[in-house]
Amino acid sequence: MRIVKPYVIVEKFDGVQVMKRIERACRTCYRSEGKITEDSYKNLIKNCINRGHESVLEHEKVTVRIYNDIGSYKDLTRHRFASFSVESTRYCSYDKDKYGNEISFMDPVYIEDEKVYEVWKKTMQDIENSYLEMKKLGATTDMCRNILPHSTAAEYTMTANIREWKHIFELRANNHVHPAIRQVMIPLLKYFKEQMPDIFGDIPYDEEFNPEYYAELRVEEM
Ligand SMILES: Cc1cc2nc3c(=O)[nH]c(=O)nc-3n(C[C@H](O)[C@H](O)[C@H](O)COP(=O)(O)OP(=O)(O)OC[C@H]3O[C@@H](n4cnc5c(N)ncnc54)[C@H](O)[C@@H]3O)c2cc1C
Repeated sequence: MRIVKPYVIVEKFDGVQVMKRIERACRTCYRSEGKITEDSYKNLIKNCINRGHESVLEHEKVTVRIYNDIGSYKDLTRHRFASFSVESTRYCSYDKDKYGNEISFMDPVYIEDEKVYEVWKKTMQDIENSYLEMKKLGATTDMCRNILPHSTAAEYTMTANIREWKHIFELRANNHVHPAIRQVMIPLLKYFKEQMPDIFGDIPYDEEFNPEYYAELRVEEM
């Protein structure tokens, strides 16, 4: 059994260029392309958001690759305007060499009580033992996946347009949200704020959430 930490890989993008492309698309509405200057996108985007003219944000998208627990994608895949490709517990058979012949479980660092944590850990070990035992007895991956818990680690790729990201961050970075999701969504939102302050700058997040729990964030070409 491996106990792992979450991470999020963000596709490389230039936030200013994303906002400038949104401005160019939006100015079609007023045929005011001639008013584009170096920083005219700032006011235009602010005004659009204040008036609820948010469909213009749909012209641009961002893709991220998240490594977190199954519970987190169960919640995030409820967002109907995002697209997902999720590691399949039907096709990925964790007894294979490719997976080190073991199951990876996401470390619930937010379980701070040592005794509770030990119960969690023992349960995960029991589950792995049973999964491998079922496999040895000839069970299919379809059968074995039924005993996998929410803590099972999985990768998923998530793509959403900028309007939907704004909506997702408004719902998924506050203290009503499961800590496993906050671990990923807060550092991701902070990155979006740096890249596109005129769109994401005002979105609040749970500032009490321990930064030591944040998922590692990497920016890469995808
Ligand atoms: C703290 C929290 C607790 C939750 N608890 C539960 C729970 O206990 N059980 C549960 O089942 N779910 C729960 N959810 C999920 C929640 O109900 C939504 O399904 C999920 O957050 C997706 O949000 P959404 O519908 O706003 O957004 P999206 O699917 O991302 O859609 C974006 C927006 O498009 C519009 N839209 C999309 N589809 C329609 C439509 N058919 N008709 C009209 N407008 C539409 C809405 O304005 C919507 O906000 C919870 C969510 C949160 C954040």
